[in-house]
Amino acid sequence: MSINQSIHSQYLLGTLMLIVLHLCTTSCTSERQSKRTKPNILFIMSDDHTTQAFGIYGSRLAQLNPTPTLDQLAREGMIFDHCFVNNSICVPSRAAIITGQHAQTNGVIDLAGSITVAQQYLPQEMKKLGYQTAIVGKWHLKNEPASFDYYHVLPGQGKYYDPEFRVQGDNPWPQNIVQTTGHSSDMITEASLDWLENKRDKSKPFFLMHHFKAPHDDFEYAPRYEDYLAETFIPEPESLYEIGNHGSEAIRGRSDSLTRIIGSSVSHRNVIRNQAMNIYWNDTSIYKKYHNARDIAANEYIKWEMDDKERSYASQVYQDYLKKYLRCVKGVDDNMTRLIDYLNESGQLENTIIIYTGDQGFMLGEHDYIDKRRMYEESMRMPFFVYYPKSITAGSRTDAIINNTDFAPTMIEMAGGTAPPYMQGRSFRSILETGKEPPDWPQATYYRYWMHLAHRHQNPAHFGIRTKDQKLIFYYGKYWVDTDDPNATWNQNSWGNDFANHTPPAWEFYDLKADPKEMNNLHGHADYKEIIGNLKNQLTRLRQDLNETDAKYPHIQEVIDAHWDDWE
Ligand code: CA
Repeated sequence: MSINQSIHSQYLLGTLMLIVLHLCTTSCTSERQSKRTKPNILFIMSDDHTTQAFGIYGSRLAQLNPTPTLDQLAREGMIFDHCFVNNSICVPSRAAIITGQHAQTNGVIDLAGSITVAQQYLPQEMKKLGYQTAIVGKWHLKNEPASFDYYHVLPGQGKYYDPEFRVQGDNPWPQNIVQTTGHSSDMITEASLDWLENKRDKSKPFFLMHHFKAPHDDFEYAPRYEDYLAETFIPEPESLYEIGNHGSEAIRGRSDSLTRIIGSSVSHRNVIRNQAMNIYWNDTSIYKKYHNARDIAANEYIKWEMDDKERSYASQVYQDYLKKYLRCVKGVDDNMTRLIDYLNESGQLENTIIIYTGDQGFMLGEHDYIDKRRMYEESMRMPFFVYYPKSITAGSRTDAIINNTDFAPTMIEMAGGTAPPYMQGRSFRSILETGKEPPDWPQATYYRYWMHLAHRHQNPAHFGIRTKDQKLIFYYGKYWVDTDDPNATWNQNSWGNDFANHTPPAWEFYDLKADPKEMNNLHGHADYKEIIGNLKNQLTRLRQDLNETDAKYPHIQEVIDAHWDDWE
């Protein structure tokens, strides 16, 4: 090497060092700045926590004060009255939240669906914006949540007591099991607090998805809640005993001929699956009387009548069902106190956006239904509120329609980014900050439940549209066939009866302003002909715009075409 070359090399080295130093200074400064200016985001989601089981949503259960901590937090932020899920079941709802996409775009149509690591868009986007990301609790999307900086998740549904977790660390997924001792709501909170305090890079703002397992069935509450509500009568919905003109031929059959085999129930009404079985399973006289669905199908049907004896059973079952459920909710609410206290005591509360939701709603005996899956209000509606005093006015409330594909775009915008174009949802940040809907904000949301008669809950497949005041549902009543896995039969094994392949198609329309509890299906009523026609047009457009048509499912499209103009 010549002297000249050597001098030149030294000069280059010096320049490089200066560049490296400069880069470090810039990056360290921007990290400090981002920590100073960017809010933390704590996204909390419970499983099947429905709006009826809150104080803030004014249901019959509000008088029991089931969620004092959540109510207080909600009242210091903005409450959404019209937040809806696009498919009322765990896996598809979670996939929509992580991807910002509807089912046929992200590929998650039912409980067998999953998203790849590459599709874990929300944590990826948050990372790009300088966030430390973590997910703790229920994940349920099957593949490793490797796009998060840290995870501590339940395998599948996970267990209520002494749950195992898969924890990011030395061992590879899925062998990275860590055993805990205690109730899942407490263990999930422990894990979040541990990450917040000890495991994260505190130079960055955090994005934490904290997902409770509770109050999903089988409603196993922590032993400390055994006495909670023990002596209290839980208010009952009138529709537990009398459903009026709710429903259609699709779920009731002609002259109520299918009420014994469609729609899982609180009472013994549905012989395939009901909550009463859980209590009276060992009472053989009752079991024999009600369990034999095939006999009922073979002998046409035994009409369901809620006589005095059945009313008494239904009431007892309902009291038991609701007490277990509300004890799980209480465990969630108490654990919220721990999270809020930690943020407060560590001086982070002021700079943290707290979002609370449930992955979908749940039927708590309304229309004598249990479970979710349905497009009816209690199941389709999600609790949703956001706390962030710096930019959200305390005590604000909105009737703007949002759905679970909008969550990711909104969080990305609140973190200072822009929602990527592949997300179908829209950011509602401006609604949070101004309380006003933008002029072009959607006035309707789309719903689709695909898992025809699955899991013995006996809900026929359906889709529909919900506006602020109206709801239109079409039951097409057919299985979907997975074109990627045409041999999959798991969703066709619900029950080997005549209706296994097809239930009657029908429409339902509810005028929610006059009939918020959906007690009167007005499809076919002359006064609503124009409104329903208009809703059908909107529904067609929504299905096209959202890539949610049945172009890939001609056996379903056939039913849609044959019954689109039905008017009975
Ligand atoms: Ca759920």
